[in-house]
Amino acid sequence: MNPLCGRCNKVVYPTEKVNCLDKFWHKGCFSCEVCKMTLNMKNYKGFEKRPYCNAHYPKTSFTSVADTPENLRLKQQSKMQSQVGKGCPAPLYSCSSWLHPAVECY
Ligand SMILES: [Zn+2]
Ligand SMILES: [Zn+2]
Repeated sequence: MNPLCGRCNKVVYPTEKVNCLDKFWHKGCFSCEVCKMTLNMKNYKGFEKRPYCNAHYPKTSFTSVADTPENLRLKQQSKMQSQVGKGCPAPLYSCSSWLHPAVECY
């Protein structure tokens, strides 16, 4: 029984097999998720069981990880901070919303 390719789900025969990231791949299918550059055992970088080239390997600065809870919190924080100094544009009674911490409104 030959294994299935991690990219195209077709049978991988021993002659064209790449065994990487706990999966088997056709040599031609073992390519960067982003730019499709063909990779090999020497130059690939694995991330969540998917191959990437050196340039597209997800790093912390990548947008694909921008929506982690921590980053969302930071985004909200900078939104709040941008309100400081401008005064609160809304009437006082609506200032208990999270967008306008009451303390900024006096
Ligand atoms: Zn394949
Ligand atoms: Zn790439």
